[in-house]
Amino acid sequence: MRFSQLYAPTLKEAPSDADLVSIKLLIRGGFLRKVAAGIYTFLPLGLKVLKKVEEIVRQEMNAIGSQEILMPIIQPAELWHETGRWDDYGPEMMKLQDRHERFFTLGPTHEEIITHILRNELKSYKQLPFSLYQIAMKYRDEIRPRFGVMRSREFLMKDAYSFHDSWDSLDDTYRDFYGAYSKILERIGLDFLVVEADSGAIGGNESHEFNVLAKYGESTLLYCDCGYAASDEKAEYRFELREQQGESGTLESVATPSSRTVEDVSSFLGVNAGDIIKSLIYKGRKGYFIVLIRGDEELNESKLKAAMNDQTVVMATPQEVMELLKVPTGFVGPVGLPEEIRIISDYSIKGLKNAVCGALKEGYHYRSVLPGRDFEIDEWLDLKMVRPGDSCPKCGTPLKSAKGIEVGHIFKLGMKYSEKMNGYITDAQGRNSPYIMGCYGWGVSRTIGAIVEQLHDKDGIIWPLEACPFHIVVTAVNMKDESIARTSLEIYNLLKSKNFDVLLDDREISPGMKFKDADLIGIPLRITVGKKLSEGVIEIKSRTEAKSVSVSIDNGYEAVSLEIERALSAYNPKSVLKLEEE
Ligand code: ATP
Ligand code: MG
Repeated sequence: MRFSQLYAPTLKEAPSDADLVSIKLLIRGGFLRKVAAGIYTFLPLGLKVLKKVEEIVRQEMNAIGSQEILMPIIQPAELWHETGRWDDYGPEMMKLQDRHERFFTLGPTHEEIITHILRNELKSYKQLPFSLYQIAMKYRDEIRPRFGVMRSREFLMKDAYSFHDSWDSLDDTYRDFYGAYSKILERIGLDFLVVEADSGAIGGNESHEFNVLAKYGESTLLYCDCGYAASDEKAEYRFELREQQGESGTLESVATPSSRTVEDVSSFLGVNAGDIIKSLIYKGRKGYFIVLIRGDEELNESKLKAAMNDQTVVMATPQEVMELLKVPTGFVGPVGLPEEIRIISDYSIKGLKNAVCGALKEGYHYRSVLPGRDFEIDEWLDLKMVRPGDSCPKCGTPLKSAKGIEVGHIFKLGMKYSEKMNGYITDAQGRNSPYIMGCYGWGVSRTIGAIVEQLHDKDGIIWPLEACPFHIVVTAVNMKDESIARTSLEIYNLLKSKNFDVLLDDREISPGMKFKDADLIGIPLRITVGKKLSEGVIEIKSRTEAKSVSVSIDNGYEAVSLEIERALSAYNPKSVLKLEEE
């Protein structure tokens, strides 16, 4: 490809709404253009990179025997009604109507479609196990589209689904996908961490997320040297009882006129946040309930939803609380609650014996509260947001935390979809039973953002060899110089014949601008044909090495080939990042 014919409009400055270095570089480098919030066009360079990542994912899927299909993006609402997810999935789902006013969704995921297709065709356990995958656009009306293609509203996903007649068989396939996902990230050459994850609206009973480590990653990961690692939505800890000091007094009501938050109450009454019981009213499928947690801890809603087995759980609005208890949210507490409101408590409340909580009366709190004496707890659960420093649930040492970008997510779905959608087979004993499923998502377009977020320096992107738009750029310093033009073309053709992805920078701009663009776009090797050609010398510069190497072409291009071979085998994007840190 000649640069003069390539549509790669590079920019000096990134647009002001580009909110992370990766999207800034991808726009400046001419890879992407934004069309609307969370909606992007991939320009030629961007599409080249996307296709390379897609191909790596495809190869690793094929390697574990998964078979590629292509399902429709537009899905009829009826299928989503069958699983209840038309209502449960929430506002992220893009909904539309056809001319007959029938509802459809632009698929945010494809469990319903795949289960529907197979329920009419799968008959016997003898047809199992197998897995199918597709690589296609997904649509999610994210509340805050951001970070370019990493949290967009239209994005390319690889989604796979597996089918089994036993849990052991699901475990085997799950392990295969786990291995394939690790291999994808190893091939691309990214540092990553696999964590136990919450399975959220997709459902199921075990799930793992594959995270590319990056300073500004959206996911918070907790991990321990013993091997335990989990996303903050899922992380557990080892509970250690901490007894509150002093003896329990008699329950008393005190005026706390305008103290509504834990902070207000703690400073007004002169008590620690850890002596306060935070009381939160939630609403789920079975109605309202109260959740208690110690004032110095944070409630983890993902753990709450998972523990209640109810994804519809949301905090009640202040109006709802007022209607239910005739009191503003800041004064809600568990003492004297109506019977029908279940009291769910986080373990952090254990050990409190002189606590403070809302008195269910505007402007008042209770002091000297003793759980068990002043109110009964219906259910104890682990609902707290685990923090670095909390004890590892496996070995007890303090947990550490890191930031990551979730690029892959695998789930053991079990029979959630097959049961609801009548996906039955005859098992080995001749019984009719729902098939067991797994599902496995990979964010192909998000991976592009994640690569750049991890691999860049002040000059631009440093693409790994497996995902670079071009391996080599031949920079002809001046195409009007006949010998420079001829040599550049000869090298360009030679490299093409060796199956390299080569770009010939034949543009009529200054060499300095050409070098800047090559670094910004992030091409691994640059071969400069310039002034030194009169001495029979060209220069080869690796994006990951500080100095260029002069190579003589007096005796043909053999030395050039050897230096390219050396530079490519030594090519290591991570080495540049280490240098930058020093
Ligand atoms: P997140 O927690 O980041 O919203 P998710 O758990 O909703 O992700 P899944 O439903 O598991 O995501 O989707 C599979 C993969 O699709 C994710 O691991 C991620 O790589 C990618 N993905 C999900 N949402 C987006 C998005 N809005 N933009 C780009 N990629 C996405
Ligand atoms: Mg999501």
